[in-house]
Amino acid sequence: MRPIDLRSDTVTLPTPEMRAAMAAAEVGDDVLERDPTMATLEDRVADLLGMEAALWVPSGCMGNLIALMLHLTRGDRFLAPAQAHVLGSELGTGAWLAGGMPEALAWDGGPGRITSAQVTRAAGSPGPYYTLRTRLLCLENTHNFAGGTVTPQAEHWALVAAAKAAGLAVHLDGARLWHAAAATGLPPAALAEGVDTVQVCLSKGLGAPMGSLLAGSTSAITDARRLRKMLGGGVRQGGVVAAAGLLALDYLPRIEEDHAKIRRLAEGLRGFGVPAPAPETNILLVPVLNAQAALAGLEQVGVRTLPVGSAIRFIAHRDLSLADIEEALRRIEPVTHLLRSA
Ligand SMILES: *Cc1c(COP(=O)(O)O)cnc(C)c1O
Repeated sequence: MRPIDLRSDTVTLPTPEMRAAMAAAEVGDDVLERDPTMATLEDRVADLLGMEAALWVPSGCMGNLIALMLHLTRGDRFLAPAQAHVLGSELGTGAWLAGGMPEALAWDGGPGRITSAQVTRAAGSPGPYYTLRTRLLCLENTHNFAGGTVTPQAEHWALVAAAKAAGLAVHLDGARLWHAAAATGLPPAALAEGVDTVQVCLSKGLGAPMGSLLAGSTSAITDARRLRKMLGGGVRQGGVVAAAGLLALDYLPRIEEDHAKIRRLAEGLRGFGVPAPAPETNILLVPVLNAQAALAGLEQVGVRTLPVGSAIRFIAHRDLSLADIEEALRRIEPVTHLLRSA
């Protein structure tokens, strides 16, 4: 039985068109000068995000880390919504490499969402020389571990305004900013307005085998290029993978299809009596009593998932069809007792 892989939107394989474009890519040494295909990708993503410049990085984690290194120094504090990727899933690099003391803000604005009042309160006012200085607000849209939740544009604006008023820089972890844009019907640039830096992934849902971009002002990206080199992320003929990234961007108008797939899954599960929430984007979190048992039971019927805390996470992506979702529901139906939380 072919497993239906709902673990992550990173499990997609490069399409035949991507592999052909990789083989044919025009390339150069991106450390000595600029690789032409990487430069094309960087310019296109900077435009999409309404930023002056962008820099290709091999992973989202490196993009976030470079941003935190740009904005922070030892003795600084940074704020982020609770369970943000930069807090729990990047091995503490924001602290031990960027030097920032993290502070998690509770989801007062709804799942994955913080309020501008919290930002103002947490930023506080400058204390004596021996206290931490709060320097950075790190946002995440969509919020992965809250279940792909969207920060709407008006809230984004209020958060940026509160951060700026308190003298904080703003970094946006937009690994799935594309999905927030699709859900709100806004261009990605509208949800990145006002931030100093933004990181977006090409390997989350869009199908690229690797690659993220960090975007910001020309001077921020000039500094980011040095930091990328320090971290070992300066690659040579990176156009080979950038070519796949350019084709991955062509999937942006189709992201809503993945949202529809996961909505169908949630609806089907509710039909079986499972209390599945309505997904906002391509992620569905189903709270369960025993995540390990649910994971193993689903695996046995050929449905692959991952646990997030005490929930099971299902993610839709371009390599799954609606027919695969229907098949997943048929496989899950006999084991729905594993997906109950009471
Ligand atoms: C996946 C993810 C990242 C990191 O991306 P990698 O390419 O896996 O390093 C950062 N932030 C969020 C919200 C993510 O979901």
